[in-house]
Amino acid sequence: MKIVIFGPPGSGKGTYASLLKNRLGIPHISSGDLVREEIRKETNLGKEIEKYSDAGELVPNEVIAEILKKRLTQDLSRGFILEGYPRTIEQAKQLDNVAKIDVVINLNVPDRVIVERLSTRVQCKSCGSIYNERTLKPRIVGKCDKCGGELFKRADDQPKVILERLKIYKETSTPVIDYYRMRKLLRDITNDNTDVSPESVTDRIMKLL
Ligand code: AMP
Repeated sequence: MKIVIFGPPGSGKGTYASLLKNRLGIPHISSGDLVREEIRKETNLGKEIEKYSDAGELVPNEVIAEILKKRLTQDLSRGFILEGYPRTIEQAKQLDNVAKIDVVINLNVPDRVIVERLSTRVQCKSCGSIYNERTLKPRIVGKCDKCGGELFKRADDQPKVILERLKIYKETSTPVIDYYRMRKLLRDITNDNTDVSPESVTDRIMKLL
């Protein structure tokens, strides 16, 4: 099954995608993680895109398409969970040329919940696992439960950059949502409560697949 997880920054896309990956046994592809990997490795592409990522702005379509192409041409015959891509209508159309998507999960989360969640989010430097200092604490402060890696706060998870990312999401998301809704691929999930466990939201997503 080829699944897209769509939603604003901080809506839990990465967390749910990673839980779905364990339940469905198919790969989780995160465009944001691929971007951060290019930056970390200091590739030519990485150096070009760092300024966009740090400012919370979208990387140009042709660059993100190039990064994704490398990953999407690997063997994904059993399906995948794609998260963070597409983010614009151009990207949604580009994706149609590469894969036939079966379902798009659309996460609806109020800004208040997003700002609270992102300002307390931490991520593992080694394996990318996501934690939250309030709702999803690691067993040992600052260390990943899964691999022992160091946890860090993303450069774009500061209040000013969070607001910029939300603004961009509002400007670009509606045509993407309409595009998939018209094709009857869209399934809505609303989560307006910070205290709901990621596992229970994932249960709801599973019922929609
Ligand atoms: P994320 O982890 O999904 O919030 O992505 C982190 C950053 O990577 C974004 O703020 C963008 O700079 C870049 N990025 C990730 N996915 C995309 C995409 N589909 N289109 C453009 N830029 C992206």
